Amino acid sequence: MTDRIIPIVHATRTSLPPGRDLAAAPEGELVDQRKRRVRDLRISVTDRCNFRCVYCMPKEVFGDDYAYLSRKQLLSFEEIERVARIFVDLGVEKIRLTGGEPLLRKHIENLIERLAKLPVEITLTTNGSLLAKKARALKDAGLHRVTVSLDGIDDAVFKRMNDVDYAVGDVLDGIAAAAAVGLAPVKVNCVVKRGSNDDQILPLARHFRHSGHILRFIEYMDVGSSNGWRMDEVLPSADVVDRISEEFPLDPIDPNYPGEVAERWRYADGGGEIGVISSVTQAFCATCTRIRLSTEGQLYTCLFAQSGHDLRALLRKGGGDEALRREIAAIWRGRDDRYSEIRTAATSLPAAKKIEMSYIGG
Ligand code: SAM
Ligand code: SF4
Ligand code: SF4
Repeated sequence: MTDRIIPIVHATRTSLPPGRDLAAAPEGELVDQRKRRVRDLRISVTDRCNFRCVYCMPKEVFGDDYAYLSRKQLLSFEEIERVARIFVDLGVEKIRLTGGEPLLRKHIENLIERLAKLPVEITLTTNGSLLAKKARALKDAGLHRVTVSLDGIDDAVFKRMNDVDYAVGDVLDGIAAAAAVGLAPVKVNCVVKRGSNDDQILPLARHFRHSGHILRFIEYMDVGSSNGWRMDEVLPSADVVDRISEEFPLDPIDPNYPGEVAERWRYADGGGEIGVISSVTQAFCATCTRIRLSTEGQLYTCLFAQSGHDLRALLRKGGGDEALRREIAAIWRGRDDRYSEIRTAATSLPAAKKIEMSYIGG
């Protein structure tokens, strides 16, 4: 394990601005140990990716000989749909497909078609490389919105970040195609790694102002054990806001819904809005309503959980939906995670125990 000295005092959102508090859960509703409801289900549909983003799947670790999951280890679309249906029954309102790169999963639109029958919002996070080709089929299958990752607008920086020589232009085409078919507003996520791509903050802001797309900056997190994370490479969101507002004054705006992770800011001149996600400097565990289903059916109650719950075994054992429902509800009830709130040098998990973002689903 690398020595990770964390020099900042974490501001935790214990006293949240008005509107940020989660409404008290109604009597009888499923809540975890910290009275949080289950609202967002993230489903990883593949652990593979065609990018090698330096902060997520560095080439040195994810090389040609990396052992990805085999086909039969993956949950089938039927199995995913079954789990999703039970989660919706338990209170989930939003399902996000992720990975790895979700658009690499064969016939992903067939899964979307199944999930779109549920009365919830279906979204997908993608690196955008296949989006121009697939946007229409995704929309037709019933997808509501997409989030596209883009860590720079300058080709050289972007290529350095994705580490597979992938050009910005193709991702921009994907974003345009998504907006054109109505997968809008498109959210564009940039993970900021100080010293690597923080010089892209202003160019990205300039590019996406007045575009109708919502640019969001995410603090670089200590997920997984392969990215060699260091606290001094985290650029606090407050600095992002300061840098942008020096050129384009920003005003804070209310969250869209209680517990929204992104803090929203609006350009004072009407150029649209941006968001910042302060996963490291302002932990939002207090309002965390997310749960993650890995590609092979392990259920994780936290991005930093050290182990999952094997739903695939339960699914394949042949029990009915009611047994599965009871099991999932018990897992959520027992949840007590708040890793980001208590992250300090002393509590950092040993690197070997951390689960990779590309596996658990970002
Ligand atoms: N491949 C898709 C993509 O990149 O959008 C979906 C999966 S990716 C793991 C989901 C999100 O996690 C991306 O926006 C990515 O930038 C973010 N991410 C990955 N590693 C991260 C890290 N160490 N810190 C913060 N965000 C990270
Ligand atoms: Fe792939 Fe997304 Fe990870 Fe980049 S962030 S390596 S695109 S899974
Ligand atoms: Fe949720 Fe875990 Fe992240 Fe906290 S650290 S916000 S509990 S996923």
